[in-house]
Amino acid sequence: ATMPPLLSAMSTAGRNGVLVKSAVAMEKLADVDQVAFDKTGTLTTGTPSVTGVVPIGEVESVDAMLQIAAAAERGSEHPIGRAIVRAAAGSEESDRLRVEHFRAVPGRGVQALVDGRRVEVITASRSEVAIDAGLVAEVETGGATAVAVIVDDRPRLLIAIHDHLRPGAAASVGALARLDGRAPVLVTGDNAAAARQVGDEVGITDVRSGLLPHEKVSAITQLRERAGARIAVVGDGVNDAPALAAADVGVAMGGIGADLTLETSDVVMVRDDLSAIPAVLRLARRARRIVI
Ligand code: ADP
Ligand code: MG
Repeated sequence: ATMPPLLSAMSTAGRNGVLVKSAVAMEKLADVDQVAFDKTGTLTTGTPSVTGVVPIGEVESVDAMLQIAAAAERGSEHPIGRAIVRAAAGSEESDRLRVEHFRAVPGRGVQALVDGRRVEVITASRSEVAIDAGLVAEVETGGATAVAVIVDDRPRLLIAIHDHLRPGAAASVGALARLDGRAPVLVTGDNAAAARQVGDEVGITDVRSGLLPHEKVSAITQLRERAGARIAVVGDGVNDAPALAAADVGVAMGGIGADLTLETSDVVMVRDDLSAIPAVLRLARRARRIVI
């Protein structure tokens, strides 16, 4: 017997590393008018590197501060947290530091008590402690994410982090722009300069940056209300879970630590190959034509 077209499309998608969770999800994919991409870990690899460490004020040892930041990030699943931990690796100091009361704040950063000192590692421009804006701008202008290390309410370091594009990101955006529908958009918690740089590299002009998780939801709702467009959101992190849930179709990158996004999604990219996204939209549209 031949398989019904939707099931057949689901199995083809599965062979290409795209797990479509239900026939209903496959049908919804056929109706998608526009795709909104998260940046960090979605259009980019999610393995960024620390490219610079700048002391703020008088800091006795930049390396000791980096070790404290890495200790605070030890429990973080965020690509930025992992990059900071990798940058500090090789010294045993950060492993020796005692970490208590670790807390991750999605879209912002982390807090912890490190050897009894209150440490925050957060988006520099969102810090409640005043930080030299010129210094932050200088770091961000190069397309870096600027993260501040604050110890006992004093800013001590700026860490510059650069991310790398995922192979296939530009091709995927190009193919989506050629499908009928609206050109893809970028929604990110990162700063405007870093967001624009990635937008330029992949060919997205509608770039919305500096968004907290609930603001990503508002951005999606707004896109959707515009002419009743149906929106797919592609994201990877805990910070994207509300946006994935608010989308018409939530697409989760299937990397490590993505458990929460897996639950709130309709589609999982098992192989993290972004070029499979336009392919699955075409597949879904074709399957629906056969159904009707
Ligand atoms: P995106 O939307 O690009 O995936 P997120 O919403 O996860 O980004 O994060 C937004 C910003 O919050 C990051 O660019 C970074 O400045 C800050 N941030 C998030 N998690 C961390 C962390 N663990 N350590 C430091 N900064 C973080
Ligand atoms: Mg992300």
